[in-house]
Amino acid sequence: MSTDNRNIIWFEKLSRTDVGLVGGKNSSLGEMVSNLSQAGIKVPAGFATTADAYRAYMTYNHLDDLIATTLSQEADGKISLQKAGETIRAAIIKGDWPQDIRDSLIESYQKLGKRSGDDELPVAVRSSATAEDLPDASFAGQQETYLNVRGEKALLNTCRRCYASLFTDRAISYRKIKGFDHQKIALSVGVQRMVRSDIGGSGVMFSIDTESGFDKVVLINAAWGLGENVVQGAVNPDEYEVYKPLLSNPDLAPILEKKLGAKEKKMIYAGSSGGETRNVPTSKAERAAFVLTDDDILNLARQACTIEEHYGQPMDMEWAKDGITGELFIVQARPETVQSRIGEGVQKTYRVRNAGKKLLSGLSVGSAAISGRVCLIENARDIDRFVDGSILVTSTTDPDWVPIMKRAAAIVTDHGGRTSHAAIVSRELGLPAIVGTSQATHILHDEQDITVSCAEGDEGFVYEGYADIEVQEIQTGDVPETKTRVMLNLANPSAAFRWWHLPADGVGLARMEFVVNNAVRVHPMALVHFDNLKDGAARDEIAELTKGYADKRDYFVDHLAMGLSRIAAVMYPKPVIIRMSDFKTNEYADLLGGKQFEPKEENPMIGFRGASRYYSDRYREGFALECRAIRKLRMEMGFDNVIVMIPFCRSPDEADRVLGVMAENGLERGKDGLQVYVMCEIPSNVILAEEFAKRFDGFSIGSNDLTQLTLGVDRDSEDLSDLFQESDPAVLWMIKTVIEKAHKAGSKVGLCGQAPSNNPEFARKLVEYGIDSISVTPDAYLAVKQNVAKAE
Ligand code: PEP
Ligand code: MG
Repeated sequence: MSTDNRNIIWFEKLSRTDVGLVGGKNSSLGEMVSNLSQAGIKVPAGFATTADAYRAYMTYNHLDDLIATTLSQEADGKISLQKAGETIRAAIIKGDWPQDIRDSLIESYQKLGKRSGDDELPVAVRSSATAEDLPDASFAGQQETYLNVRGEKALLNTCRRCYASLFTDRAISYRKIKGFDHQKIALSVGVQRMVRSDIGGSGVMFSIDTESGFDKVVLINAAWGLGENVVQGAVNPDEYEVYKPLLSNPDLAPILEKKLGAKEKKMIYAGSSGGETRNVPTSKAERAAFVLTDDDILNLARQACTIEEHYGQPMDMEWAKDGITGELFIVQARPETVQSRIGEGVQKTYRVRNAGKKLLSGLSVGSAAISGRVCLIENARDIDRFVDGSILVTSTTDPDWVPIMKRAAAIVTDHGGRTSHAAIVSRELGLPAIVGTSQATHILHDEQDITVSCAEGDEGFVYEGYADIEVQEIQTGDVPETKTRVMLNLANPSAAFRWWHLPADGVGLARMEFVVNNAVRVHPMALVHFDNLKDGAARDEIAELTKGYADKRDYFVDHLAMGLSRIAAVMYPKPVIIRMSDFKTNEYADLLGGKQFEPKEENPMIGFRGASRYYSDRYREGFALECRAIRKLRMEMGFDNVIVMIPFCRSPDEADRVLGVMAENGLERGKDGLQVYVMCEIPSNVILAEEFAKRFDGFSIGSNDLTQLTLGVDRDSEDLSDLFQESDPAVLWMIKTVIEKAHKAGSKVGLCGQAPSNNPEFARKLVEYGIDSISVTPDAYLAVKQNVAKAE
């Protein structure tokens, strides 16, 4: 008897065209085993029962008639859906296996056991319906999966239960709504060697950013134990992001983000008999640690790229890490269906204004914002209470919740990551959702008016009351070509990806201080001199933030480099100009532990800021950490498109000193292709432009400070705001003059102040003066690009 018969097929004999035979899930596993093993994709060995076997089982046990009769009784209202489901499932579970199928199953199981040297090999038994993975989230995950099944008897029983799971109440009613013929669908069972992820970890990954559709990153979610908790959104997982184009170089580690999740519990094996699993709370140490090492993250991301390349489209995958061998396996792969369908065209951007008190935060799904009334439902039993068009607030969701999710304005959950059920369904439905808030069901109450904002980056916020929500549509198709480069001012790493579709010429200004505020939060000197910190509260908070770092300085370098990397990635390989920190002393003092290291100044705006800090004993060590972060970004992660810019540089002498300190810290202008720019924002920069041009590769005009210092008007003064005019002839003279001088000296000049974003006339003047590039806030990009095109 052969085990490769019409009842059972080994994965290596299957391909993705076999959906009719073994369902979507199993045919995809087969596709990877047969085509991608050589390319390094590891799928646990196994086999699938066929649709023929399912039909033979049904016929052998005379189930077809029973099913047809029971369902028509249900349709006629003679029996309830519950009763119909119960009757059919019980009959399927009671059935006998036709001898040949039983023999094939047992023989294949033994063969799999021999391959692995274990007679009672634990296997995963997965259902794969032949009409599965249709592009509708509500259908996914409807049939059962059983983990840790051991022994022949348990296997035979579990396969019957998989068959029966084709007739859960949910599945019956779903097929009825969608008009699928119950008897045309068949079920294939995948039997696969168990990966010991119960003592390792597992999760989900996408080869595209699920929120912005940025197709250059892999997004990985991870939790301890078996994978069900991540898939269902029962835990808040770790989240990692990797930049794909730089992965092919084995010397680089382009990990853009590592976010620690709470990972509240883990699913493990229950007992030794097999087939059972249970959840246990994770230990403190497990919660505090990342599930994956950097090498694991890169390894998985490479596998994601290989799979995506093979299928020729963005993919949605599940993975598992064996706790004994440390090996990483792919246990499922299917095409991603949401972002890849949206494609290019109109992009809507939302902005929330006049928001009330911030009540909650979590992971944002989508980028929309909406105000509405809370409908808090704790249990699926109560879903009839749902009020159409309200904001669903709940602990977590599963497919039972889909009917009301479809009628919700937004969704907020306590638990779950970006790949949880709630997140996936919300994304498909185009609803804003905030998942993993930990406490939504405690903080929010029924009928409360709130605003759900997913418009502010990766983090989503719930505000009290109704806010003003502005919606802007950007038509990416009709952006004109211009000779003058139009670049972006980006500040928020977590929101950077949403601009990937703009055809900008790079990033003209990334203010490092914003990223420090966002991604680091601690004053660098407080990390260097942590042991001498006087502020006890700050000390405790810093200790908490830097947990896991033996050297606190590494915390600054890692977090800053990662924050900046998301900005560098969004435009790679186009130039991205990162400006070294330009906080004022009062702003530095607001960073954690900052007060002790900053002088009190009367006029911080013209005080100890910019270049003057970098070579001073007061900040030199802090600047060294900034330099290390840039080095890491360029050399270890691979973002060699990064250009460094020095702000507020008062004299050529100061320029020399700063360039000297940078070189001491491994950032030598001209070495490894490093370019260094200087801001032109002090009149001295214009007056001595020739001298500055000798020391730097380019200028970027800071029209905010240049206007302030040319006209002697405080840029932040409300009272003087009428006098603060960037288009004042004196300021325009400054701009025109520096452009001429720089060009004579062979240097490039751009402008990155606020003026051209708000004022089209100003943008036209810049073109007239022959500026090389203009950098603007992303929401102004299209208008400026059009103004520039008209002016050229
Ligand atoms: C400027 O001065 O115009 C500028 C872009 O820098 P900042 O606004 O950060 O001072
Ligand atoms: Mg400035």
